[in-house]
Amino acid sequence: MIIHMSKEATPEQTKAVFRRIEAKDAKYEVIHGTTGINVIGVLGDMSRVEESYFSELDGVEKVIRISKTYKQISRQYAHEGRIRDKETRAIRVKDAVIGGSSLAVMAGPCSVESREQARAIAAYIKDTGVPIMRGGAYKPRTSPYSFQGMGEEGLRVLEEIRQEYGLAVVTEATGQHRHVKPDGSQEERTVLENVVAFADIVQVGARNMKSYGFLQELAMLTRDRQTPVMLKRGESSTLEDFLLAAEYIVANGNPNVMLCLRGIRTFEEGKFQRYTADIGAIPVLKRETLLPIVFDPSHATGYRRNVEAVALAAVAAGADALLIETHSDPTRALCDGEQCVTEEQLRALLRRASAVRDALNQAE
Ligand code: PEP
Ligand code: MN
Repeated sequence: MIIHMSKEATPEQTKAVFRRIEAKDAKYEVIHGTTGINVIGVLGDMSRVEESYFSELDGVEKVIRISKTYKQISRQYAHEGRIRDKETRAIRVKDAVIGGSSLAVMAGPCSVESREQARAIAAYIKDTGVPIMRGGAYKPRTSPYSFQGMGEEGLRVLEEIRQEYGLAVVTEATGQHRHVKPDGSQEERTVLENVVAFADIVQVGARNMKSYGFLQELAMLTRDRQTPVMLKRGESSTLEDFLLAAEYIVANGNPNVMLCLRGIRTFEEGKFQRYTADIGAIPVLKRETLLPIVFDPSHATGYRRNVEAVALAAVAAGADALLIETHSDPTRALCDGEQCVTEEQLRALLRRASAVRDALNQAE
């Protein structure tokens, strides 16, 4: 609910509203107008509370019910409260803006495999003008026999790249407690601690979207610096569950969340497409939330020959950013090689994707 206080409301009258909110075990945030508190956003389940519970109090001008289960990220909440950012929440990462007027792009290999591999890819990413490199140091894999990532060593490689090429880095944090190295020993710090200490953007993978304790801990560890978080949609998650997972992070103190669509599981079994690209989710999310939308055509399709067409469709549908897997030698990649585009394909894709975005901007 959103409670608008009248201009003449006294501090005591406002406090009476706070007490009623607390009596329902809910929290609140206040939005100050020129004459004091003028809007109170109620954060909690108000589905069984009548509007009159608040509107009967002195000093209350009107009460608006927010029908969404997710509140702080919803467009409705911002509009009804006439608060802060009513437009898409632009997230700035070094020189890049995700959710601004131009298309943002993040690109890189699925995982950091070696210093040489990562540097070769960083060099051409930098040359294309893409400002953000993505590379996993910790890889949650379906099979325990698959490559699990280089761990801390991978983060060190990414740090070198960040220094040398001036690229911002996005890398994945997993809920795994402490990474197990190839020799069977464990790293000293948890994966989350290591990644939060390092990343410009922390990626939460599809497998962890519903790890609510993990999302809370991540928000708490990132809230001081408000490090941006890129949350990927679970492969079988509804859009409402996806939005609520984002709300977990925002409600625990970090508002800088971007939503990444990465394809969903359908009856399509992987011969032609690994997952199904849910382009229709883009306008839905755009309507429902202020958070910027990233589209990952690499995981959505699973095969590099499909990546560009789906990327262009996502841009046309309104995605704010693309996340593209690319590799200098895709056939030798240790992870997701079939969906990694080559340097040449990346360059063509970037050219066409920005042409689509420019055309849309011009038609505004
Ligand atoms: C990835 O981004 O490389 C990845 C593993 O993605 P997802 O979590 O979407 O499967
Ligand atoms: Mn991958």
